[in-house]
Amino acid sequence: MSLLILDSDQVERLLPMRDCIRVMEQALADLERGAVTQPLRSFSIPPGVNGATVWMSAHRSAPKPMFGTKLLFVLGDNPSRGLDSHQGQVILADGETGQIRALLDASAVTGIRTAAVSALATRLLAREDARVLAIIGTGVQARKHLESIPLVRPFTSVLIAGHTPDRARQFVDDVGATAPCPIAAADTVESAVRAADVVVTVTDSHTPILFREWLRPGTHLNAVGASRPMHWEIDPRIYADVVAFCDRRESLQGEAGDFRQAAQAGITTLDAVGELGELIVGKRKGRTSTDQITLFRSLGLAVEDLAAAEFIVAGAGGSG
Ligand code: NDP
Repeated sequence: MSLLILDSDQVERLLPMRDCIRVMEQALADLERGAVTQPLRSFSIPPGVNGATVWMSAHRSAPKPMFGTKLLFVLGDNPSRGLDSHQGQVILADGETGQIRALLDASAVTGIRTAAVSALATRLLAREDARVLAIIGTGVQARKHLESIPLVRPFTSVLIAGHTPDRARQFVDDVGATAPCPIAAADTVESAVRAADVVVTVTDSHTPILFREWLRPGTHLNAVGASRPMHWEIDPRIYADVVAFCDRRESLQGEAGDFRQAAQAGITTLDAVGELGELIVGKRKGRTSTDQITLFRSLGLAVEDLAAAEFIVAGAGGSG
């Protein structure tokens, strides 16, 4: 049996963002319907390393049994070396025999599938008339979200806020020519958020960079960064009066510092937060009025990697 090995260029070519949004919708529906077994991922932080080893595993029983496992090495110093902080492999294997079908570059899979899930959440939760997008962060995920989110609403402008105004300007200089609509650097995170209909936070900050009072009525927020219990990128008070969704409640409870703070303070409960899969299959309502603030809290799931890998392998002519 042949083993496919797919590098980042091949993954980028075989997983167009628009297709990935559809693949993620199906993956989260499969999860909701109980076709996927997926333990909470495990993190290990070796002493002296500015980063972590992360192991994420899933098994889907139907329609075709498949194993998908992602081994990630997340290295915080990599961006200063010109490298993606997320390195590693996604392993796709037969769900009955365990025979390995493919090894795929995990940086590319993670970049695309994460942005695709945020676009899916935006399609399901944002106001139809959302026209201004703010992206907070200037790294790998910021680029991918600039590609994905405008696929689901006809944005007329994008505001970028970074660690500093110079970082935001540099990002705009780098990607402005290929952006799907006019894009500008904001001086502060606050000014970008206050002007936006849809906000994406994709930073590696461990402390809040976005505060409740900055969000206008009707805003949709995708909060994507910070995935450890002691890290939080958004103000926990946001949970007080939003229509909140996550990818998986088990991940939210185990990994999202902002949610854990909010729950400890009595601001919210686990039951108050829906899963995107529940929204997709019609078990839960999303936005019901134009002035509600909606939140999608993304932690990232192994089933997303499995589904993306299967789609890529099929496109490469492999049996999946
Ligand atoms: P990068 O390291 O490429 O980018 C992080 C960015 O955050 C940098 O541009 C950094 O700016 C910026 N930043 C840090 N602090 C601030 C701040 N206070 N205000 C504005 N910008 C800030 O990481 P990625 O893009 O790969 O990932 C972003 C986040 O998303 C990480 O937390 C990562 O763990 C998470 N992630 C989540 C996934 C999910 O499925 N939910 C999947 C993959 C990643 P500077 O360089 O100037 O410091």
